[in-house]
Amino acid sequence: MTTHTVSTRSPSASIWDAAHAADARRPRSRQRQLGASDTICSRRAGYILHGAKRSHSPDMRAAILGTYIHQGLLEDARREFGWLIERTVTDDVLCGHIDVVQLDAATANRLPKRHRPVGPADVVTVEDVKTKSGRIWDRVVRYGPTAAEMRQVLLYADLLRSVGFADIPGQRYLHRLGPIDVGRIRFRFVCRDTGEEHIQEFDFDPWLATEARWWVERVLEAPGPKDLPRDHDGPGLSAICDNCPFRDACWPGVAPGMPAQTILIHDDADRAQALADYVRGHELYREGKRLKEKARAMLSDSPAGRYGDNTLGWSGGNPRQEMDIQAMVERFEDADLVVPMLPNAKAMVETLRRAGIPVPTRPAAGQKTPRTINISPARETV
Ligand code: SF4
Repeated sequence: MTTHTVSTRSPSASIWDAAHAADARRPRSRQRQLGASDTICSRRAGYILHGAKRSHSPDMRAAILGTYIHQGLLEDARREFGWLIERTVTDDVLCGHIDVVQLDAATANRLPKRHRPVGPADVVTVEDVKTKSGRIWDRVVRYGPTAAEMRQVLLYADLLRSVGFADIPGQRYLHRLGPIDVGRIRFRFVCRDTGEEHIQEFDFDPWLATEARWWVERVLEAPGPKDLPRDHDGPGLSAICDNCPFRDACWPGVAPGMPAQTILIHDDADRAQALADYVRGHELYREGKRLKEKARAMLSDSPAGRYGDNTLGWSGGNPRQEMDIQAMVERFEDADLVVPMLPNAKAMVETLRRAGIPVPTRPAAGQKTPRTINISPARETV
């Protein structure tokens, strides 16, 4: 991150100084009760419950951008569609903010007329809006929510089913409804780079919600954070750990210049296990590589298009371009530039670029750029 010696209010200060300051004041940043969104890692949840000091300040810029998009979309959905957004659910242990609750007609009709949301659903639906980067978008479309994201929304839905909306100002009319029978959960993924939207819905499964509750109970029963498993692979290997505020407490005593994971080795038994994992990983990699290479060769002659769950695309395979020295000499003469006695393509390209003149190229005889296969999950057309 850029450091500044100027006053934070100066126009030349980084605008992120303001964004970070505002983010630090957001209720979720200050929350000490376990939020459903904190269930991403058992040990992290343990640190929060035990009030551990946050020793690492991760780079929050991408997360803050996500928050801005999230807030903007939800607020506009509330204004334009009358959606019920950002509602709090809580019990003795957990606290969460549900992005969108769509009530069914029977439940909506129990509300005072002025509070009735428009467009009731066939069953009560709890929705979570998640913004994702384009880098992982294909994975999101293909595999949907992660286990932690699923757990988070199941816990929201379970709180709504067991307690109802929290009894707090601004939503007392909702609290009076009592426990709500949630029938469906929905994920609405939005790509931060393209705006693409992808929706996945699941029937509410009480068994899965009970599993999510057990997860929380296991965290509560642990004497301390160190008695809980690290659910991620650690700094340098997991973006979640890289951005975890408890990273330093979780991975203590790492020797300078060594990967954090070295602290996981205590004796020869650990070394034997790590070696066995390495060998197994290599075998999986070899088998995966073999599968990919065979499928790639089989598809070489297939036209682009949708096949089953995937879309096949091709890029490259175009005539390769090479410098057109004769045309470059002509451009030099037209621009009154000195033509080198011995044509030097590299120097001529630099001179043309400096002069703002397009560098002429021509197709290289018989040469093509490599043909690249692109496979993405098949998108449903809306
Ligand atoms: S550093 Fe990683 S493993 Fe440790 S608490 Fe944070 S997320 Fe969990």
